Amino acid sequence: MLGLMMDSPLLVSTLLEHAESTHGSTEIVSRRCEGDIHRYTMKDAAGRARRIANLLARYDIQQGDRVATLAWNNYRHFELYYGISGTGAVLHTINPRLFAEQLVYIINHAEDRLVFVDLTFVPLLEAIQGQISGVEKFIILCDEDKMPDTSLANAHCYETLLAAESDQFQWPEFDERSACSMCYTSGTTGNPKGVLYSHRSTVLHALASVGEEVMGMASSTCFLPVVPMFHVNAWGTPYSAAITGAKQVFPGPGMDGASLWELIEAEKPDLLLGVPTVWLMLLNHMDSIGKKLDSVENVIVGGSAAPISMIRAFQEKHDAFLIHAWGMTEMSPVGTLNSHNKHMEALPLEERYQLQAKQGRPVYGVEMKIVDDNLQPLPRDGVASGRLLVRGPWIVNGYYKNEASDSFIDGWFDTGDVATIDEHNYLTIVDRSKDVIKSGGEWISSIDMENIAVGHPELTECCVIGVPHPKWDERPVLLAIKQPGSSLSEDDVKAYLDDKIVKWWMPDKVLFVEELPHTATGKLHKVPLREQYHDLLM
Ligand code: AMP
Repeated sequence: MLGLMMDSPLLVSTLLEHAESTHGSTEIVSRRCEGDIHRYTMKDAAGRARRIANLLARYDIQQGDRVATLAWNNYRHFELYYGISGTGAVLHTINPRLFAEQLVYIINHAEDRLVFVDLTFVPLLEAIQGQISGVEKFIILCDEDKMPDTSLANAHCYETLLAAESDQFQWPEFDERSACSMCYTSGTTGNPKGVLYSHRSTVLHALASVGEEVMGMASSTCFLPVVPMFHVNAWGTPYSAAITGAKQVFPGPGMDGASLWELIEAEKPDLLLGVPTVWLMLLNHMDSIGKKLDSVENVIVGGSAAPISMIRAFQEKHDAFLIHAWGMTEMSPVGTLNSHNKHMEALPLEERYQLQAKQGRPVYGVEMKIVDDNLQPLPRDGVASGRLLVRGPWIVNGYYKNEASDSFIDGWFDTGDVATIDEHNYLTIVDRSKDVIKSGGEWISSIDMENIAVGHPELTECCVIGVPHPKWDERPVLLAIKQPGSSLSEDDVKAYLDDKIVKWWMPDKVLFVEELPHTATGKLHKVPLREQYHDLLM
């Protein structure tokens, strides 16, 4: 027997309609590319999203057509999220940190018809325009008087176009399983693969991630998403903000410590979201000016592992709780969060930090398991580690255009991460499966060692790679960046690690480097390092 409930489709336009009627006066604050601070309300955003919809209709954009953005976190990007997806077109957020040839590849692969672009990124498109001839128009996100002198053919001014459109539009109703947005993974090998989110998956993901022991968002929340809207939809926050009416403070291009602090001091957000590298910059800046992040209560950190030194610095210097999160592009992205709860509160501080360093527990909707290489389930004892498989309604079921992949296994998605799960369902990421180091048949976690090493006050970033070794198969080598002026030696670093890791984990070499390579999403890129140091220990 079927239930007797209405079957209203879960469409992202319904989020915006809710936000406008329920949280219409909620403020949205942005630092613009032009340098100034812009303010408007959720009601203003909704009106402008409807103007975008009318503009797309004028350009004959049909349901399912791909429309791209190349933009920072700001109000224009926010209204485009809704304006594009709301019509049934597919919002393709492009990561500007990709190499030129990857940009060409994904714009052509997605068959983007229009690209909405922030001023900063116009030169990126000028350089490749001869290779992306399928794009019909470039719409530059600025006022008429800020229009750059561009070589882009068919470039138009966003504000001029919007001013000519009506703010009346009836959002269409269609199948909730229709594609809503897409984002390409920035894999370390091979071409990027397109992940296509649906309206249903996006709304369910937003609903599941707002709860008190998840992202903890309410109408009283003011949050600063530093995690980019061009990479996995800023962890779904543009949608959860519409559900809750939380105030958004967008940092625009100002991702450095000083610019972030200026915005935090002025707008007083209580929740920050971003990757560890960004918080390292902010924490260093706060140390250098001797100030405290007074308004901040919670910092959600994901994308890479949050080291204990960061958990401690936020807590002890700023009274802010670090919520460790794990997810991936293929998961919309939220998988697990390690939020504050009663059990944690009761723990002695050092034990609590150890628990916070785990990646957390799955949000409702995400199932996870660890398996061995024969796909046999491993125990949830916090010790056994294996391949991490996930499934759920906002987890990818295939790549765009059926791009081949061996990640799909009997209804589960193989994350490519190696992890442990404990009896309370806390996940700990041990490594990327390709980065794990195998020494004499035993596993060494490069992530664990990096997190311990970066706790040294004179090291700013650390990277551990496995290097071929004639006797042990592979041995760890630590590459580290020192604080300016530090005279730290290899022996000093080894002495620091000595009582913190088991003896056989000790890196065979510690090398000091000026910089470390990162992927387009800011993660350590170990492939070129493994090539560079391949013969170091032979
Ligand atoms: P992306 O799809 O670019 O967001 O990358 C997803 C990958 O980032 C995951 O599969 C993990 O390897 C890594 N990752 C994300 N969050 C964390 C975290 N909190 N700790 C360790 N690794 C993480």
